[in-house]
Amino acid sequence: MTSLAAATSLSDGLPSMPLGNDFADIREGVRAVCKNFPGKYWRDLEARDEYAEEFVAALGAAGYLGALIPEEYGGSGLPIRAGAVILEEIHATGCSAAACHAQMYMMGTMLRHGSEAQKLRYLPGIATGKIRFQAFGVTEPTTGSDTTQLKTRAVRDGDHYVVNGQKLWTSRAHKSDLMMLLVRTTPADQAKRRSEGLSVLLVDMQDAVGKGLTMRRIETMVNHQTNEVFFDNLRVPVENLIGEPDQGFRYILDGMNAERILTSAESLGDARYFIERASRYATERVVFGRPIGQNQGIQFPIARAYAEWRAADLMVRAAAALFDAGRPCGEEANTAKLLSSEAAWNAAEAAMQTFGGFAAAREFDIERKWRDCRLQRIAPISTNLILAYLGQHVLGMPRSY
Ligand SMILES: Cc1cc2nc3c(=O)[nH]c(=O)nc-3n(C[C@H](O)[C@H](O)[C@H](O)COP(=O)(O)OP(=O)(O)OC[C@H]3O[C@@H](n4cnc5c(N)ncnc54)[C@H](O)[C@@H]3O)c2cc1C
Repeated sequence: MTSLAAATSLSDGLPSMPLGNDFADIREGVRAVCKNFPGKYWRDLEARDEYAEEFVAALGAAGYLGALIPEEYGGSGLPIRAGAVILEEIHATGCSAAACHAQMYMMGTMLRHGSEAQKLRYLPGIATGKIRFQAFGVTEPTTGSDTTQLKTRAVRDGDHYVVNGQKLWTSRAHKSDLMMLLVRTTPADQAKRRSEGLSVLLVDMQDAVGKGLTMRRIETMVNHQTNEVFFDNLRVPVENLIGEPDQGFRYILDGMNAERILTSAESLGDARYFIERASRYATERVVFGRPIGQNQGIQFPIARAYAEWRAADLMVRAAAALFDAGRPCGEEANTAKLLSSEAAWNAAEAAMQTFGGFAAAREFDIERKWRDCRLQRIAPISTNLILAYLGQHVLGMPRSY
């Protein structure tokens, strides 16, 4: 158990974290791109149930999608904190990074554990946006959060793996060129540990569709373009295996701290969006002869959301600082995810109440962002599983999973 005194690994003086408007030029650049994608763009996309092609292309052209890819592979080689800033700004402007955030956190798994040939083949194209690396196939219908028990099976047959099984909630699979797929290569009852027996494969989607891979779209309350994916004797070349067979869960776990930090930053952006809009509206909207924000029933929830956002922001910065220093950050990344998703939700609720009936009108965008940010408390990891992590791994209480 980690002692509470050591609960923040920052207490030994290293590493340090920036406060305030860090990466100011990046923030400004992202906002300039986002200005061309106002609420109407997102509402229309949702009405047509379409992927944000133009938005993703614009971010790629401006170089933001390759921010975390090292320079030798065509990216900018920036730290995860810069990635967090990019996603935060996207969300703070009212846009959504859901269409393209996955490549930022999956890319680390390829970078740390992929072969040189895989990196040279894919990373330069991912950096420019030519190759879309947006599909992450982990969750399955029967095993859900219990990832180590997943059942999609890959069996070696010469220089291929033959994949059979099913994934659920694989967002953007139909819009992606590459999928990072977690499969079982050793049956669960033969694996030495629960965390072994799984492997990571890169699936070339154009090659796979119609040759053992089929998809069915799932209608959801948010425009995440998500799918059920079915594998029926899909052949994947052995050269597409990331790292060693049976070690895939470890590789994915490595990337999960990055995922937690980056999606936390999106929640911070959502919180800012709601707080800025709600406080402005509360000041301008006059009912009973005075601004509604003069009433503490309206003012205090917004002020409280602001305080929660500030606290969550510090934890996201701490997690990113540790991650960028190569230090363990599971506790901070999970805590950041918990606090930021709750701060965003409380801000969303405050904005919903502040806007009154207008919150329900699509053109105000409050309800769209409200639906979007609620999801962050469920996916990519649910609040309970974060609490279970903290309870078990940090506080040493009995395991529940
Ligand atoms: C729009 C959307 C997009 C998604 N995109 C992707 C994607 O691209 N790729 C991908 O792989 N997955 C994706 N997911 C899946 C997402 O990661 C899962 O929904 C999430 O991890 C929860 O898993 P589950 O839905 O199976 O819930 P379950 O595991 O069935 O859990 C249901 C509830 O029970 C709780 N629970 C379960 N076990 C415990 C326990 N031991 N202690 C306490 N509480 C527990 C959970 O916290 C949760 O609240 C997406 C989901 C959605 C809705």
